[in-house]
Amino acid sequence: MAGRLTVLREDFLRRVPKAELHCHFEGTVRPATFKDLAERHGVELPSDDPAQLYDYNTIIEFLSIFGMVSSTIIDRDDFARAAYESLEDGVVLGNLRYREMFFNPTLHTRRGVPISTVLAGLADGIEAAEQDLHVRCRLIADVYRQDPPDAARQMVEELLDARDHARGHLIGLGMDGAEADDPPEKFVDAFHLARRGGLRLTSHASEDAPPRNIVTCLDLLGCERIDHGYHILEDPAILARCRDDGIYFTCCPTSTAVVYGWPDLSHHPIKDMVAGGLRCMLNSDDPTMFHTDIGREYVVACQALGYDAAKVRQLCLNGVEASWLDGVDKAVMRQELNAEIDALQASLPG
Ligand SMILES: [Zn+2]
Repeated sequence: MAGRLTVLREDFLRRVPKAELHCHFEGTVRPATFKDLAERHGVELPSDDPAQLYDYNTIIEFLSIFGMVSSTIIDRDDFARAAYESLEDGVVLGNLRYREMFFNPTLHTRRGVPISTVLAGLADGIEAAEQDLHVRCRLIADVYRQDPPDAARQMVEELLDARDHARGHLIGLGMDGAEADDPPEKFVDAFHLARRGGLRLTSHASEDAPPRNIVTCLDLLGCERIDHGYHILEDPAILARCRDDGIYFTCCPTSTAVVYGWPDLSHHPIKDMVAGGLRCMLNSDDPTMFHTDIGREYVVACQALGYDAAKVRQLCLNGVEASWLDGVDKAVMRQELNAEIDALQASLPG
């Protein structure tokens, strides 16, 4: 029918091979694992029903549950199990091939878990998943904005001292937490220290704050890409600069819709960011806590935005280009993704 929009099939969107660069380890824990770990470590939960554990109505409740989940991950095996399951969910539900995964060191170290335990456990889970499921993962430690700048700097010092425990999987520093009251310039020392230590840099920016935070992250902190960035649409000059510089944006449809009120994904800022020439890619953010997964993010966003198969392919490839894989690995993954998407398009009717 002339002019009719073709909606891409759910199975195509779930099965296109994906690289994901914006996903928080602590927000990927399965409800049943949360319950299991809480029982093992004597942490009392608000509900015995795993399905109800991630029900919340406000950002305050969300952060409270996020902290509670973290408090149940204590031993090296806990980190390994949760990391493995997190990658398994990505593979099974969304054909995940590669992830650069955030974790918050101070969330764990401030309750007495050694950073060496965190890193070694995450590395155990990542290596087991790569062996069993052929998915690769690298780690990005996040500065938590509500920590004082000195605590953030100290976290980076400890991280660099302990990085051997991550067995090569720790590659970057990022930043998360509530953005409005704690702007990025507070953490310039932590970022510069990380860069001198050989870590790559990214940051959540302009998710719920003015677009000038994006400029601060790029120019003062030295970030190479931006996580979220939606308010860039309010400043055409900053948008033009990021477009011309080829800055990549890691966007998260569902989490932003829930927390910041864009319930209709057909009007999500991603639409105008892509139309404005910015290089965007899709991510699940805190998938289990937002009742989603990386496969579902592609389904709901690409269908709502009316994207065709060529646009979906570009989103997938942007995930590879924006990653911190080296040039050879990137070329191999680019070729594999293109071949697999070709085969998928050929095999599916319509
Ligand atoms: Zn995030």
